[in-house]
Amino acid sequence: MSDRQDFGAPEIIDLPARPVATSRIGVEEQVHRGMDAPSPHRPGQRAPLPAGPLIQCDGVVKIYKVADLEVVALQGLDLTVEPGEFIAIVGASGSGKSTLLSILGGLDVPSAGRVVVAGHHVGEMGSAERTRYRRQVLGFVWQQTARNLLPYLTARENVELPMLLEGVPRNDRASRTSWLLDLVGLAERGDHRPSQLSGGEQQRVAIAVALANEPALLLADEPTGELDTNTAHDVFELLRTVNRLLGLTIVVVTHDPLVSEQVSRTIAIRDGRTSTETLRRRAISDAGHHHVIAEEYAVLDRVGRLQLPRSHVEELGLRQRVRLVLEDDHIEIWPDGAGNGTGETPR
Ligand code: ADP
Ligand code: MG
Repeated sequence: MSDRQDFGAPEIIDLPARPVATSRIGVEEQVHRGMDAPSPHRPGQRAPLPAGPLIQCDGVVKIYKVADLEVVALQGLDLTVEPGEFIAIVGASGSGKSTLLSILGGLDVPSAGRVVVAGHHVGEMGSAERTRYRRQVLGFVWQQTARNLLPYLTARENVELPMLLEGVPRNDRASRTSWLLDLVGLAERGDHRPSQLSGGEQQRVAIAVALANEPALLLADEPTGELDTNTAHDVFELLRTVNRLLGLTIVVVTHDPLVSEQVSRTIAIRDGRTSTETLRRRAISDAGHHHVIAEEYAVLDRVGRLQLPRSHVEELGLRQRVRLVLEDDHIEIWPDGAGNGTGETPR
């Protein structure tokens, strides 16, 4: 895309007519096999999800105090995620991505604002509700493979552990663990400890662990950040499969632009705020070619604030004040001193 391309103009990427087969693992095949039988689970324990968005963040502020210094990690972030969505969050290092995930994950509380996930007011939970929330509502996959798994337990024992903590009966635990290991393509590796597995395999086990208690939401902070490109691709494919076949809502933080191109919505965070969203949809041209059409949007918050892309601000030398001109179906933004307020440039 050239620098001059209009913000919001669709970017069209040609796709091969059929998805490239992932011969390495055959996840899809594994899953279909697994899906023939319904997912083994504990009947009747899961409260139904409330209607409406799964995640609703309004004006979320997070301030870290370090000695006398205050670091504003999030400054009025808004985000809505519908059930079943798979979204990527991108942004420069230090922009607040991990802070957002920690808050969504109930590991940290917002300094101000409102965060509701699956009906839980995340900033206001007591410690019992918080523990329940983390065990029952959420699955979490971290970047560091070592952080996801206990090193002295086998893959199978790691997957069973969250169910053990929830008091799931032994037989249900065993059948669900087998089902999950099969789902992530590691049916043959259940007896291996993490140190006997590759980095990609460890992340697959981590995904199985995260799915153990049938969460409503899977959060992943740079889950492929320590993997080589091919392995990262496979792990990401697994997440896509989980999203598609289980209908699980997934929020993944990533640096990888290739990864962010494969989800239906990418949210860019800048300076602790959502700045742009890129929506993608598949389309088929008259000639029968498959395309992904990507359209980038600026995010308008609840009180009408808009963050302009830095490239646009710099290109036009916008500073401090701009002139807004309301037209019938759009708004024009003019540099201070340019234009005559009627939308016409001075000659
Ligand atoms: P990202 O994941 O996008 O790289 P983070 O959410 O980790 O960004 O960090 C956002 C900002 O908050 C950074 O300036 C970071 O230094 C600061 N920060 C994050 N966690 C803490 C913490 N526990 N204590 C103090 N400052 C923190
Ligand atoms: Mg981070």
